Amino acid sequence: MTDEMTYPGPSGIHLTSFPPREHWDDWVELDPKAWPERKEHHYMLVPTTCFNCESACGLLAYVDRETMEVRKLEGNPEHPASRGRNCAKGPATINQITDPNRILHPLKRTGKRGENRWQRVSWDDALDDIASRIRKAISEERRNEVLYHVGRPGEDGFTERVIAAWGLDGHNSHTNICSSGARAGYHYWMGLDRPSPDHANAEVILLISAHLEAGHYFNPHAQRILEGKQDGAKLIVFDVRLSNTATHADHWLAPYPGSEAAILLAIAGYLIRTRRYNREFVERWWNWKEYLAAEKPDAEPTFERFEGFLEELYREYSFAYAEEESGVSAEVIEAVAEVVAGAGTRLSTHTWRSASAGILGGWQVSRSLFLLNALMGAVATEGGTFPNAWNKFVPRPIYLPPHPDVWNDMSWPGDYPLSLHEMSILLPHFLKEGRGKLDVYFTRVYNPVWTNPDGFTWVEALSDESKVGLHVALTPTWNETAYFADYVLPMGVAAERHDIHSYETHDAQWIGFRQPVLRAARERLGESIHDTRETNPGEVWEENEFWIDLSWRIDPDGKMGIRRFFESKKHPGDKLTVDEYYGYIFDTSVPGLPDQALEEGLTPLEYMRRYGCFEVERNIGPRHEQEVPPEELEDTVVDTLGRVLTKAPKPDAPNVVPNPTPAGDAEGRRPVGVDVDGRTLRGFPTPSGKLEFYSSTLAGWGWPELAVPSYVKSQIHPENLEEGEIPLIPTFRLPVQIHTRSANAKWLDEIAHTNPLWMHTSHAAKLAVKTGDLVRVETRIGHFVVKAWVTESIRPGIVACSHHMGRWKLSDLGQKQLMATVAMSRDDSKWTLSRKKGVAPYASKDGDTDRIWWTDAGVHQNLTFCVQPDPISGMQCWHQAVRVRRAEPDDRYGDVHVDTDKAHAQYRAWLEKTRPANTVSPDGNRRPYCLLRPLKPTKKAYRLPE
Ligand code: SF4
Repeated sequence: MTDEMTYPGPSGIHLTSFPPREHWDDWVELDPKAWPERKEHHYMLVPTTCFNCESACGLLAYVDRETMEVRKLEGNPEHPASRGRNCAKGPATINQITDPNRILHPLKRTGKRGENRWQRVSWDDALDDIASRIRKAISEERRNEVLYHVGRPGEDGFTERVIAAWGLDGHNSHTNICSSGARAGYHYWMGLDRPSPDHANAEVILLISAHLEAGHYFNPHAQRILEGKQDGAKLIVFDVRLSNTATHADHWLAPYPGSEAAILLAIAGYLIRTRRYNREFVERWWNWKEYLAAEKPDAEPTFERFEGFLEELYREYSFAYAEEESGVSAEVIEAVAEVVAGAGTRLSTHTWRSASAGILGGWQVSRSLFLLNALMGAVATEGGTFPNAWNKFVPRPIYLPPHPDVWNDMSWPGDYPLSLHEMSILLPHFLKEGRGKLDVYFTRVYNPVWTNPDGFTWVEALSDESKVGLHVALTPTWNETAYFADYVLPMGVAAERHDIHSYETHDAQWIGFRQPVLRAARERLGESIHDTRETNPGEVWEENEFWIDLSWRIDPDGKMGIRRFFESKKHPGDKLTVDEYYGYIFDTSVPGLPDQALEEGLTPLEYMRRYGCFEVERNIGPRHEQEVPPEELEDTVVDTLGRVLTKAPKPDAPNVVPNPTPAGDAEGRRPVGVDVDGRTLRGFPTPSGKLEFYSSTLAGWGWPELAVPSYVKSQIHPENLEEGEIPLIPTFRLPVQIHTRSANAKWLDEIAHTNPLWMHTSHAAKLAVKTGDLVRVETRIGHFVVKAWVTESIRPGIVACSHHMGRWKLSDLGQKQLMATVAMSRDDSKWTLSRKKGVAPYASKDGDTDRIWWTDAGVHQNLTFCVQPDPISGMQCWHQAVRVRRAEPDDRYGDVHVDTDKAHAQYRAWLEKTRPANTVSPDGNRRPYCLLRPLKPTKKAYRLPE
């Protein structure tokens, strides 16, 4: 490949079709529809980032210079993670901009909640009303009655800081329906809660689930997995379905769901028994001394002795045992173990949702998976797996409001002291039990009625004004939860809002910039824009300006101490603008950016508006091996296990997200490094500074039996199923849809609009079911009726149904391409959802809507799932124990029946599994301070009430 064939920007990608950046002001393309006439279109190319999943890939908006409209979006070759490539959801952003059903103006409810009757209101009226309620709640010390609940954060940390500036512990997230399980497993190992695999340079890539088609950091990872494969890497995939990812695997294992950790531990046991692990790494970087001190205090504290115990610990996880648990043959597992053993330090592994999000003890899946990396020394190595924070760049913002001095038990209940993160799935049950109430509740790109388990319990809570005083839905598009709001406020899609991002896509650090592209285009032409609404469709706003404005209205004269965090530093007394906010960050906090911008005669903000991304650093390497400089070692002490700590207590670390600094010891002394072979190295942000094979946090907080990587028999383990029950896997994504946000993209809806029940041919034969037949799936709180898809591509005896479908609306008002119109009825605790009308063509300003040919929108299965929080991570254990049978004569496609009394009883049953803080806390705190949490309150607020 010649240099001329590679793009000269950070992507260095070999495709030559990207418009060269010097032509981004005036890029000419011919109008294909006008052919053979050579009609030219002149475009200004303006970067932004995709908002359709968490990867934040780069996009380039093609802004027609004549009409100043966005014509299309394609990949941004300046983006070092996505490198000019996107999945189907990226270019489909144009559909979301032009969606004829989108919400264009602020709306206020006129009927009862759920009646779907609205009137248009001004932004001013809506903001004043919301602000006055928040002001009153804060002034009356009802701070925990204001809650902000986010689905997809647009920008890491922005709104957390807004909430902190208001003095609230009012951040709630979707994490425990998504990634709490995986996070916990990684956190206990390395003090950081996500992995960053270097797939492109790996010898062996081990994925739990479908990362190539729909996994976390999907497109950036998928292209690097394929690069790794092209260079000869072996791909191992665990997936109960023959997913597209599994079809690319060298070794596809379809274990019984929930048995993944048993296989991983059998592989670990093999590596240990055969001495195929990296002894030097384990000796230097595992906290084996701590393990011996805690668990084998009478043993000689030598590494050799530890190795003996290690072998004993994993002896029970033989290949035969793994076969018994998983149904995968011992020979196959042994063959995979051999492949892993041959990876050396080039073993990249990844799990995120999947098993970790499906089962009780799912966090032990990620903990067991990372055990393989830790054994091989494939940690922060080329081709290995990094802690995420090392491959992520977090700049310092213009203001850092202090830690709030308040604790919100509704999000961080004492029942779950180790949860990562908020226990958001339990909110409606807490409201039902009277643990508290909400005065102002924001849902933001979040749709718990549809996305969460037990949606009818959410409907009950959101319909009750004594429980939720004011519900404000911030959303670009209609969703099931917004129907139960008081205000629906229209927010911008990817091309209509500002955010910055950085994610652990590979061994580098970069920062991406999402921006309202028409605003940026008009500014490039010399116009001055003060408010993003000036360039967005209708009255659609962006959130950052919204939060700044709302904060001013909460504290109009600044006496509450809130306004100061939203004031200009350049012009004291003026409102902070987004230009100043981002300009400050890019000027002061992104190493190398000001110089790079200067080279092009631009300010750092102009540079980011022009290119959309900046690569801060490449090839980060092993940060844990970095030596701590001598000046940082003054006034330090070393504890018995080698942790180097400041002599004196230190105040709370700055309130930034993420905050990888562990709490330090009981005296509040902060860790500086760790002693390794007589040198003080940076180490890992764990309590010990080492990789924690043994977690003193788990042991100290009531779970000593799970302190080392081990296997937990899940809620769908055969021993825990009732007669006739089988596992339902409801967690898998469809590659072209993403939860709530992508339903208003017509191209995606045309490709994927149904979610049949995957069922193996042998299973279907027993039930006399064929593809397309209706089947009834009964959970422990209700049932749903869905069509069967009979296939060889799933493990026999397991059924699976994608959660991306089953969208509904209560009347014609709503999204029409992927939402069925339903009737919702209630008889005390018994709820029914039945389909009135499927999707149909309709007339609109978009001629394509007349050509809609599909009628299906899938079935909403999550309504029939009870909450099943893992007692440690807090993760919803999504996999369900179900009975599947042929539908009854009166059953109709899409029917859903649920009893919320049964749902509440299940919530109580799962609550019994917990070990609450007031019974296990070793230090009088509500949770370990070393565990990450967004918006950490003060240490004082961490104290358990007397
Ligand atoms: S993977 Fe697809 S949906 Fe996700 S950010 Fe990239 S282009 Fe968008």
